[in-house]
Amino acid sequence: MTVYNFSAGPAVLPAPVLLKAQSELLDYENSGQSVFEMSHRSPIFESIRDAAEQSLRRLMSIPDTYSVLFLQGGATLQFTMLPQNLATKTGRVDFIDTGGWSTKAIADAKLYTSVNVLASSADHGYRFIPEGPFTSTADYLHITWNNTLEGTTYQTPPLVDVPLVADVSSSILSEPLPIESFDMLYAGAQKNLGVAGLTVVIVKNALLDRVPDTIGAYLRYDIHAKQRSLYNTPPTFSLYMTKLVLEWIEETGLETIAARNVSQARMLYEAIDQSHLFHNHVGVKDRSRMNIPFSTGSESEDAAFLNFAASHDLINLAGHRSIGGMRASLYNAMPTEGVTALIHIMHRFEQGER
Ligand SMILES: *Cc1c(COP(=O)(O)O)cnc(C)c1O
Repeated sequence: MTVYNFSAGPAVLPAPVLLKAQSELLDYENSGQSVFEMSHRSPIFESIRDAAEQSLRRLMSIPDTYSVLFLQGGATLQFTMLPQNLATKTGRVDFIDTGGWSTKAIADAKLYTSVNVLASSADHGYRFIPEGPFTSTADYLHITWNNTLEGTTYQTPPLVDVPLVADVSSSILSEPLPIESFDMLYAGAQKNLGVAGLTVVIVKNALLDRVPDTIGAYLRYDIHAKQRSLYNTPPTFSLYMTKLVLEWIEETGLETIAARNVSQARMLYEAIDQSHLFHNHVGVKDRSRMNIPFSTGSESEDAAFLNFAASHDLINLAGHRSIGGMRASLYNAMPTEGVTALIHIMHRFEQGER
């Protein structure tokens, strides 16, 4: 039975990655141990950690002037670590508010620093990404690159004179990014990079001088950078899974994956736009290629569609609880057959099948 999983996260993984993890589960590379059981300070685990970092650096063209950190706590812990580490010069931080995840990042930042929202599309149901130009004199400007709940995305980074920080949790490695435009990027792994438990932070070394010594050791980017994310026990198995996902992306080719993401998203948007039943309200140029919300406009019809889809093995299509309707998440591991199957089921539902 082929089930297509449209979950927004934790999300579908590439089948070859799961098979590889299965084949190595009991005995990793003839070490006589599983990855679960290894000391994080053993040479064999360090080789896993290093391979993951090197692969990420190759895929994202990350120069040596940035550190790559493997942390815990999800993207959500970054909402609170970020201001504590980096809002230490002027004590002011600027945000562009593009949805539910921006809102949460703003709320946490306010506990530590003064926050200014430069622009927000909240009054318009977050249907677009506010356009610049923006001027800022704050310690950094924070943006949410791909808005997982609302289905919007930036296409290019805003130009600003201050460090630019982006939450890329739901789009990392779905497309090439101009790394040098950013001073920090962060992402929870469970959407496009692996399984829950790991958070990747990519931060410019020059910013590490800002980190104060008045916050707890685990919260400090400079300590994690210096200790190569081995200050304490990292989420070892999640890190291993991310190594496998990164290897899969390298084998497949990021350009190939990015092109597939563009074409799959286009197929689904075309089906929605041509339908008389389903709608997506996001402005065309800001539409996400990873998370595609749609709705019939009727709660009971949406519920009926979700049932119909699930009965045809298309699962986890319910929209975020704050938004309702449907949401198809088309992360890197979603095969094109899954998108075709979804479009087919949408047609059948629209023809009246239940
Ligand atoms: C999922 C998500 C988060 C929250 O991630 P956790 O790992 O659950 O903390 C934050 N930001 C964005 C854009 C997300 O998609």
